[in-house]
Amino acid sequence: MIESDCYSFDTKLLHNRHKFDPTNGAVSVPIQHATTFHQSDIDHFGKYDYSRSLNPTREALEDVIAELEDGLKGFAFSSGMAAISTAFLLLSQGDHVVITEDVYGGTYRMVTQVLNRLGISHTFVDMTDLKEVEKAIQPNTKVLYVETPSNPLLKVTDINAISNLAKQHGAYTFVDNTFLTPALQKPLNLGADIVLHSATKFLSGHSDVVAGLAVVKDEELANRLGSLQNSFGAVLGVQDCWLVLRGIKTLAVRLQQSSSAASKIAAYLNLHPLVKEVHYPGLESHPHFALQKEQAKSAGAVLSFEFENEDVLRSFVKNVAIPVFAVSLGAVETILSYPAKMSHAAMPEEERLARGISNSLLRLSVGLENPDDLIQDFASALNKISSVQLQGGK
Ligand SMILES: *Cc1c(COP(=O)(O)O)cnc(C)c1O
Repeated sequence: MIESDCYSFDTKLLHNRHKFDPTNGAVSVPIQHATTFHQSDIDHFGKYDYSRSLNPTREALEDVIAELEDGLKGFAFSSGMAAISTAFLLLSQGDHVVITEDVYGGTYRMVTQVLNRLGISHTFVDMTDLKEVEKAIQPNTKVLYVETPSNPLLKVTDINAISNLAKQHGAYTFVDNTFLTPALQKPLNLGADIVLHSATKFLSGHSDVVAGLAVVKDEELANRLGSLQNSFGAVLGVQDCWLVLRGIKTLAVRLQQSSSAASKIAAYLNLHPLVKEVHYPGLESHPHFALQKEQAKSAGAVLSFEFENEDVLRSFVKNVAIPVFAVSLGAVETILSYPAKMSHAAMPEEERLARGISNSLLRLSVGLENPDDLIQDFASALNKISSVQLQGGK
Protein backbone atom coordinates (compact mmCIF):
# COMPACT_ATOMS: atom_id res chain seq x y z
CA MET A 1 0.00 0.00 0.00
CA ILE A 2 1.32 3.43 -0.83
CA GLU A 3 0.37 6.96 0.08
CA SER A 4 -0.68 8.51 -3.21
CA ASP A 5 -2.57 11.55 -1.94
CA CYS A 6 0.34 13.90 -2.47
CA TYR A 7 0.98 12.83 -6.06
CA SER A 8 -0.12 14.79 -9.08
CA PHE A 9 -2.84 13.32 -11.29
CA ASP A 10 -0.43 11.93 -13.91
CA THR A 11 1.55 10.07 -11.26
CA LYS A 12 -1.57 8.76 -9.55
CA LEU A 13 -2.54 7.04 -12.79
CA LEU A 14 0.35 4.64 -12.16
CA HIS A 15 1.15 4.85 -8.49
CA ASN A 16 -2.06 4.09 -6.68
CA ARG A 17 -3.38 1.40 -4.38
CA HIS A 18 -3.19 -1.12 -7.22
CA LYS A 19 0.39 -0.41 -8.24
CA PHE A 20 1.24 -4.04 -7.54
CA ASP A 21 -0.40 -7.14 -6.13
CA PRO A 22 0.59 -7.33 -2.44
CA THR A 23 0.50 -11.15 -2.51
CA ASN A 24 3.22 -11.59 -5.15
CA GLY A 25 4.35 -8.21 -6.41
CA ALA A 26 2.76 -8.53 -9.88
CA VAL A 27 2.66 -5.07 -11.46
CA SER A 28 -0.55 -5.66 -13.39
CA VAL A 29 -3.87 -6.16 -11.61
CA PRO A 30 -4.69 -9.90 -11.77
CA ILE A 31 -7.84 -10.88 -13.65
CA GLN A 32 -9.97 -12.80 -11.16
CA HIS A 33 -12.34 -15.00 -13.15
CA ALA A 34 -13.93 -16.69 -10.14
CA THR A 35 -17.66 -16.10 -9.80
CA THR A 36 -17.84 -17.49 -6.27
CA PHE A 37 -15.55 -17.49 -3.25
CA HIS A 38 -15.01 -20.19 -0.62
CA GLN A 39 -16.24 -19.21 2.84
CA SER A 40 -14.36 -20.75 5.71
CA ASP A 41 -16.81 -19.96 8.49
CA ILE A 42 -20.54 -20.72 8.51
CA ASP A 43 -21.33 -17.57 10.47
CA HIS A 44 -18.84 -15.11 9.04
CA PHE A 45 -18.41 -14.72 5.29
CA GLY A 46 -15.38 -13.08 3.74
CA LYS A 47 -15.33 -9.77 1.87
CA TYR A 48 -16.10 -11.45 -1.46
CA ASP A 49 -18.94 -13.90 -1.94
CA TYR A 50 -20.25 -13.62 -5.51
CA SER A 51 -18.73 -11.66 -8.38
CA ARG A 52 -21.84 -9.71 -9.37
CA SER A 53 -21.76 -8.18 -5.89
CA LEU A 54 -18.01 -7.69 -5.65
CA ASN A 55 -15.03 -8.97 -7.60
CA PRO A 56 -11.38 -8.09 -6.89
CA THR A 57 -10.55 -7.05 -10.47
CA ARG A 58 -13.63 -4.88 -10.79
CA GLU A 59 -12.98 -3.49 -7.33
CA ALA A 60 -9.50 -2.37 -8.45
CA LEU A 61 -10.99 -0.40 -11.34
CA GLU A 62 -13.70 1.03 -9.05
CA ASP A 63 -11.02 2.13 -6.54
CA VAL A 64 -8.89 3.72 -9.25
CA ILE A 65 -11.69 5.75 -10.83
CA ALA A 66 -12.98 6.85 -7.40
CA GLU A 67 -9.53 8.15 -6.51
CA LEU A 68 -9.06 9.90 -9.87
CA GLU A 69 -12.44 11.67 -9.62
CA ASP A 70 -11.78 12.62 -5.96
CA GLY A 71 -14.81 10.57 -4.99
CA LEU A 72 -15.61 8.10 -2.26
CA LYS A 73 -16.72 5.12 -4.32
CA GLY A 74 -16.64 4.00 -7.92
CA PHE A 75 -18.85 1.53 -9.76
CA ALA A 76 -18.08 -0.27 -13.02
CA PHE A 77 -20.84 -1.17 -15.46
CA SER A 78 -21.11 -3.10 -18.71
CA SER A 79 -21.46 0.14 -20.73
CA GLY A 80 -21.82 3.88 -20.31
CA MET A 81 -25.56 3.46 -20.83
CA ALA A 82 -25.67 0.80 -18.09
CA ALA A 83 -23.99 3.27 -15.70
CA ILE A 84 -26.36 6.09 -16.70
CA SER A 85 -29.49 3.89 -16.60
CA THR A 86 -28.55 2.42 -13.22
CA ALA A 87 -28.05 5.93 -11.81
CA PHE A 88 -31.53 6.84 -13.09
CA LEU A 89 -32.89 3.90 -11.06
CA LEU A 90 -32.35 6.12 -8.00
CA LEU A 91 -35.55 7.82 -9.17
CA SER A 92 -39.11 6.69 -8.51
CA GLN A 93 -42.45 7.02 -10.25
CA GLY A 94 -43.60 10.65 -10.12
CA ASP A 95 -40.10 12.12 -10.11
CA HIS A 96 -38.87 14.64 -12.66
CA VAL A 97 -35.53 15.21 -14.38
CA VAL A 98 -34.20 18.45 -15.84
CA ILE A 99 -31.80 17.47 -18.58
CA THR A 100 -29.51 19.16 -21.05
CA GLU A 101 -31.14 19.41 -24.48
CA ASP A 102 -28.19 18.24 -26.58
CA VAL A 103 -27.64 15.18 -24.42
CA TYR A 104 -26.01 12.00 -25.77
CA GLY A 105 -28.47 10.17 -28.07
CA GLY A 106 -28.63 7.02 -25.92
CA THR A 107 -29.43 9.05 -22.81
CA TYR A 108 -32.10 10.88 -24.80
CA ARG A 109 -33.63 7.51 -25.73
CA MET A 110 -33.48 6.27 -22.13
CA VAL A 111 -35.19 9.37 -20.79
CA THR A 112 -37.84 9.74 -23.49
CA GLN A 113 -38.68 6.08 -24.12
CA VAL A 114 -37.99 4.25 -20.87
CA LEU A 115 -38.20 6.66 -17.92
CA ASN A 116 -41.30 8.22 -19.47
CA ARG A 117 -43.04 4.83 -19.47
CA LEU A 118 -42.11 4.32 -15.81
CA GLY A 119 -43.76 7.61 -14.83
CA ILE A 120 -40.54 9.61 -14.52
CA SER A 121 -40.95 12.83 -16.48
CA HIS A 122 -38.36 15.21 -17.89
CA THR A 123 -37.82 18.70 -19.23
CA PHE A 124 -35.10 19.41 -21.77
CA VAL A 125 -33.36 22.74 -21.30
CA ASP A 126 -30.35 24.63 -22.49
CA MET A 127 -28.26 23.92 -19.37
CA THR A 128 -25.99 26.84 -20.15
CA ASP A 129 -28.90 29.19 -19.44
CA LEU A 130 -29.37 29.18 -15.65
CA LYS A 131 -32.65 31.10 -15.83
CA GLU A 132 -34.10 28.44 -18.14
CA VAL A 133 -32.89 25.71 -15.80
CA GLU A 134 -34.48 27.40 -12.80
CA LYS A 135 -37.76 27.80 -14.71
CA ALA A 136 -37.77 24.10 -15.57
CA ILE A 137 -37.36 22.93 -11.97
CA GLN A 138 -40.56 21.52 -10.46
CA PRO A 139 -41.37 20.51 -6.87
CA ASN A 140 -40.76 16.87 -7.91
CA THR A 141 -37.45 17.51 -9.70
CA LYS A 142 -34.91 15.05 -8.33
CA VAL A 143 -32.06 15.27 -10.84
CA LEU A 144 -30.34 17.98 -12.85
CA TYR A 145 -28.53 16.11 -15.61
CA VAL A 146 -25.49 17.79 -17.15
CA GLU A 147 -23.16 16.90 -20.00
CA THR A 148 -20.32 19.35 -20.42
CA PRO A 149 -18.99 20.08 -22.93
CA SER A 150 -22.15 18.86 -24.60
CA ASN A 151 -22.42 16.52 -27.52
CA PRO A 152 -22.08 17.46 -30.35
CA LEU A 153 -22.24 21.24 -29.97
CA LEU A 154 -19.64 21.57 -27.19
CA LYS A 155 -21.71 23.95 -25.11
CA VAL A 156 -20.30 24.42 -21.64
CA THR A 157 -22.43 24.20 -18.51
CA ASP A 158 -21.39 25.80 -15.23
CA ILE A 159 -21.23 22.69 -13.02
CA ASN A 160 -20.86 24.66 -9.81
CA ALA A 161 -23.85 26.90 -10.54
CA ILE A 162 -26.05 23.94 -11.52
CA SER A 163 -25.01 21.99 -8.40
CA ASN A 164 -25.90 24.95 -6.19
CA LEU A 165 -29.27 25.25 -7.89
CA ALA A 166 -29.88 21.52 -7.46
CA LYS A 167 -29.02 21.68 -3.75
CA GLN A 168 -31.43 24.58 -3.21
CA HIS A 169 -34.19 22.41 -4.65
CA GLY A 170 -33.24 19.15 -2.98
CA ALA A 171 -32.16 17.54 -6.25
CA TYR A 172 -29.04 15.63 -7.25
CA THR A 173 -26.62 16.77 -9.94
CA PHE A 174 -25.48 14.06 -12.36
CA VAL A 175 -22.59 14.95 -14.67
CA ASP A 176 -21.63 12.90 -17.71
CA ASN A 177 -17.85 13.48 -17.72
CA THR A 178 -17.09 11.29 -20.75
CA PHE A 179 -15.72 14.10 -22.93
CA LEU A 180 -13.12 15.42 -20.49
CA THR A 181 -12.44 12.67 -17.92
CA PRO A 182 -10.93 13.51 -14.51
CA ALA A 183 -7.67 14.32 -16.29
CA LEU A 184 -9.29 17.59 -17.34
CA GLN A 185 -12.40 18.12 -15.20
CA LYS A 186 -13.54 16.90 -11.77
CA PRO A 187 -17.28 17.48 -11.36
CA LEU A 188 -17.45 16.16 -7.77
CA ASN A 189 -15.13 18.97 -6.66
CA LEU A 190 -17.49 21.42 -8.36
CA GLY A 191 -20.48 20.19 -6.37
CA ALA A 192 -21.87 17.31 -8.45
CA ASP A 193 -23.26 14.22 -6.71
CA ILE A 194 -22.64 11.56 -9.36
CA VAL A 195 -20.10 11.49 -12.16
CA LEU A 196 -20.91 9.19 -15.05
CA HIS A 197 -18.66 7.89 -17.79
CA SER A 198 -18.74 6.01 -20.96
CA ALA A 199 -15.36 4.41 -20.25
CA THR A 200 -15.63 3.11 -23.82
CA LYS A 201 -14.21 6.48 -24.84
CA PHE A 202 -11.15 8.31 -23.43
CA LEU A 203 -10.70 6.26 -20.25
CA SER A 204 -10.12 3.05 -22.22
CA GLY A 205 -8.96 5.01 -25.22
CA HIS A 206 -8.28 2.29 -27.78
CA SER A 207 -11.70 1.54 -29.35
CA ASP A 208 -11.58 -1.98 -27.96
CA VAL A 209 -13.84 -2.16 -24.90
CA VAL A 210 -17.39 -1.09 -24.03
CA ALA A 211 -17.60 0.01 -20.39
CA GLY A 212 -19.26 2.46 -18.02
CA LEU A 213 -18.33 4.00 -14.68
CA ALA A 214 -20.02 5.99 -11.95
CA VAL A 215 -18.43 7.76 -9.01
CA VAL A 216 -20.08 9.31 -5.95
CA LYS A 217 -18.67 11.19 -3.00
CA ASP A 218 -21.43 10.72 -0.43
CA GLU A 219 -21.61 7.52 1.59
CA GLU A 220 -25.38 7.19 1.69
CA LEU A 221 -25.61 7.69 -2.08
CA ALA A 222 -22.75 5.21 -2.53
CA ASN A 223 -24.72 2.58 -0.62
CA ARG A 224 -27.84 3.20 -2.68
CA LEU A 225 -26.01 3.09 -6.00
CA GLY A 226 -24.05 0.01 -4.91
CA SER A 227 -27.29 -1.75 -4.08
CA LEU A 228 -28.73 -0.79 -7.49
CA GLN A 229 -25.59 -2.01 -9.25
CA ASN A 230 -26.03 -5.36 -7.54
CA SER A 231 -29.80 -5.47 -8.10
CA PHE A 232 -29.81 -4.46 -11.75
CA GLY A 233 -26.63 -6.45 -12.33
CA ALA A 234 -25.18 -4.70 -15.38
CA VAL A 235 -21.63 -5.08 -14.04
CA LEU A 236 -18.47 -4.94 -16.12
CA GLY A 237 -16.76 -8.26 -16.86
CA VAL A 238 -13.28 -8.80 -15.46
CA GLN A 239 -11.39 -8.90 -18.78
CA ASP A 240 -12.93 -5.57 -19.69
CA CYS A 241 -12.13 -4.15 -16.24
CA TRP A 242 -8.51 -5.00 -16.90
CA LEU A 243 -8.58 -3.31 -20.33
CA VAL A 244 -10.01 -0.11 -18.79
CA LEU A 245 -7.37 -0.21 -16.04
CA ARG A 246 -4.66 -0.50 -18.68
CA GLY A 247 -6.12 2.33 -20.74
CA ILE A 248 -6.26 4.62 -17.71
CA LYS A 249 -2.48 4.37 -17.20
CA THR A 250 -1.88 6.47 -20.32
CA LEU A 251 -4.90 8.77 -19.92
CA ALA A 252 -2.96 11.94 -19.09
CA VAL A 253 -0.49 11.76 -21.98
CA ARG A 254 -3.18 10.77 -24.46
CA LEU A 255 -5.43 13.67 -23.46
CA GLN A 256 -2.58 16.15 -23.41
CA GLN A 257 -1.54 15.23 -26.94
CA SER A 258 -5.08 14.97 -28.34
CA SER A 259 -6.29 18.21 -26.72
CA SER A 260 -3.39 20.21 -27.98
CA ALA A 261 -3.89 18.74 -31.47
CA ALA A 262 -7.65 19.49 -31.27
CA SER A 263 -6.93 23.08 -30.43
CA LYS A 264 -4.58 23.39 -33.41
CA ILE A 265 -7.11 21.80 -35.76
CA ALA A 266 -9.97 23.95 -34.41
CA ALA A 267 -7.91 27.07 -35.09
CA TYR A 268 -7.18 25.85 -38.62
CA LEU A 269 -10.82 25.03 -39.43
CA ASN A 270 -11.99 28.27 -37.86
CA LEU A 271 -10.02 30.27 -40.42
CA HIS A 272 -10.98 28.15 -43.43
CA PRO A 273 -13.46 29.93 -45.72
CA LEU A 274 -15.43 26.73 -46.42
CA VAL A 275 -16.13 26.08 -42.74
CA LYS A 276 -19.15 27.98 -41.53
CA GLU A 277 -18.64 27.45 -37.81
CA VAL A 278 -16.37 25.59 -35.43
CA HIS A 279 -17.65 24.52 -32.01
CA TYR A 280 -14.74 24.16 -29.62
CA PRO A 281 -14.59 25.73 -26.15
CA GLY A 282 -10.84 26.22 -26.51
CA LEU A 283 -11.39 28.92 -29.16
CA GLU A 284 -11.46 32.40 -27.70
CA SER A 285 -14.49 33.12 -29.89
CA HIS A 286 -16.46 30.32 -28.18
CA PRO A 287 -19.18 31.88 -25.98
CA HIS A 288 -18.13 29.76 -22.99
CA PHE A 289 -14.35 30.03 -23.40
CA ALA A 290 -13.83 31.67 -19.99
CA LEU A 291 -16.07 29.24 -18.12
CA GLN A 292 -14.35 26.26 -19.72
CA LYS A 293 -10.99 27.64 -18.68
CA GLU A 294 -12.24 28.14 -15.15
CA GLN A 295 -13.74 24.70 -14.54
CA ALA A 296 -11.52 22.45 -16.65
CA LYS A 297 -7.83 22.09 -17.41
CA SER A 298 -8.37 22.31 -21.15
CA ALA A 299 -11.08 22.17 -23.79
CA GLY A 300 -10.52 18.49 -24.56
CA ALA A 301 -10.05 16.53 -27.75
CA VAL A 302 -13.50 16.77 -29.32
CA LEU A 303 -14.80 19.50 -31.59
CA SER A 304 -17.52 19.87 -34.15
CA PHE A 305 -17.76 21.99 -37.26
CA GLU A 306 -20.35 22.99 -39.74
CA PHE A 307 -20.35 23.42 -43.50
CA GLU A 308 -22.58 25.58 -45.65
CA ASN A 309 -24.65 22.58 -46.73
CA GLU A 310 -24.84 18.79 -46.74
CA ASP A 311 -23.26 18.42 -50.20
CA VAL A 312 -20.09 20.09 -49.03
CA LEU A 313 -20.06 17.79 -46.00
CA ARG A 314 -20.53 14.70 -48.18
CA SER A 315 -17.66 15.70 -50.42
CA PHE A 316 -15.40 16.34 -47.42
CA VAL A 317 -16.21 12.97 -45.84
CA LYS A 318 -15.57 11.22 -49.17
CA ASN A 319 -12.16 12.84 -49.64
CA VAL A 320 -10.72 12.87 -46.17
CA ALA A 321 -8.26 10.00 -45.63
CA ILE A 322 -6.85 9.79 -42.10
CA PRO A 323 -9.81 9.72 -39.68
CA VAL A 324 -11.95 6.65 -39.40
CA PHE A 325 -15.52 7.62 -40.24
CA ALA A 326 -17.46 6.05 -37.42
CA VAL A 327 -19.53 6.46 -34.31
CA SER A 328 -17.77 6.86 -30.98
CA LEU A 329 -14.90 9.05 -29.84
CA GLY A 330 -12.03 9.22 -27.42
CA ALA A 331 -9.61 6.86 -29.09
CA VAL A 332 -5.99 6.73 -30.19
CA GLU A 333 -7.15 7.09 -33.79
CA THR A 334 -8.97 10.22 -34.95
CA ILE A 335 -12.67 9.56 -35.41
CA LEU A 336 -14.90 11.63 -37.67
CA SER A 337 -18.60 11.20 -37.13
CA TYR A 338 -21.87 12.46 -38.52
CA PRO A 339 -24.15 13.18 -35.54
CA ALA A 340 -27.31 13.47 -37.67
CA LYS A 341 -27.04 9.83 -38.73
CA MET A 342 -24.94 8.43 -35.90
CA SER A 343 -25.00 9.58 -32.26
CA HIS A 344 -28.25 11.51 -32.70
CA ALA A 345 -30.09 9.19 -35.06
CA ALA A 346 -32.45 8.29 -32.18
CA MET A 347 -33.64 11.87 -32.05
CA PRO A 348 -36.60 12.86 -34.28
CA GLU A 349 -35.41 15.15 -37.09
CA GLU A 350 -37.30 18.26 -36.00
CA GLU A 351 -36.05 17.89 -32.42
CA ARG A 352 -32.53 17.45 -33.69
CA LEU A 353 -32.67 20.49 -35.98
CA ALA A 354 -34.24 22.57 -33.20
CA ARG A 355 -31.23 21.70 -31.05
CA GLY A 356 -28.85 22.97 -33.75
CA ILE A 357 -27.62 19.53 -34.83
CA SER A 358 -27.89 20.11 -38.55
CA ASN A 359 -27.23 17.87 -41.54
CA SER A 360 -24.06 19.86 -42.27
CA LEU A 361 -22.41 19.22 -38.90
CA LEU A 362 -19.48 16.86 -38.33
CA ARG A 363 -17.90 15.88 -35.03
CA LEU A 364 -14.20 15.19 -34.74
CA SER A 365 -12.52 13.30 -31.92
CA VAL A 366 -8.82 13.91 -32.29
CA GLY A 367 -6.50 10.97 -31.73
CA LEU A 368 -2.74 10.68 -31.48
CA GLU A 369 -1.75 11.30 -35.10
CA ASN A 370 0.52 14.23 -35.82
CA PRO A 371 -1.90 17.20 -36.08
CA ASP A 372 0.00 18.57 -39.08
CA ASP A 373 -0.82 15.40 -41.02
CA LEU A 374 -4.48 15.77 -40.11
CA ILE A 375 -4.52 19.42 -41.13
CA GLN A 376 -2.89 18.57 -44.44
CA ASP A 377 -5.43 15.82 -45.01
CA PHE A 378 -8.31 18.20 -44.27
CA ALA A 379 -6.82 20.89 -46.48
CA SER A 380 -6.61 18.54 -49.43
CA ALA A 381 -10.19 17.29 -48.87
CA LEU A 382 -11.44 20.88 -48.66
CA ASN A 383 -9.58 21.74 -51.85
CA LYS A 384 -11.59 19.15 -53.75
CA ILE A 385 -14.90 20.75 -52.86
CA SER A 386 -16.31 22.15 -56.07
CA SER A 387 -18.24 25.31 -56.65
CA VAL A 388 -21.26 23.16 -57.62
CA GLN A 389 -21.37 21.67 -54.13
CA LEU A 390 -20.88 25.09 -52.61
CA GLN A 391 -24.08 26.23 -54.25
CA GLY A 392 -25.95 23.32 -52.75
CA GLY A 393 -25.44 20.80 -55.56
CA LYS A 394 -28.34 22.11 -57.56
C1 LIG B 1 -20.78 6.99 -25.71
C2 LIG B 1 -21.39 7.88 -24.72
C3 LIG B 1 -22.32 7.39 -23.79
C4 LIG B 1 -22.79 5.95 -23.78
O1 LIG B 1 -21.77 5.07 -23.46
P1 LIG B 1 -21.70 3.54 -23.98
O2 LIG B 1 -20.44 3.06 -23.39
O3 LIG B 1 -21.70 3.58 -25.46
O4 LIG B 1 -22.91 2.86 -23.45
C5 LIG B 1 -22.82 8.27 -22.86
N1 LIG B 1 -22.46 9.58 -22.85
C6 LIG B 1 -21.59 10.08 -23.73
C7 LIG B 1 -21.23 11.53 -23.67
C8 LIG B 1 -21.03 9.25 -24.70
O5 LIG B 1 -20.18 9.76 -25.59
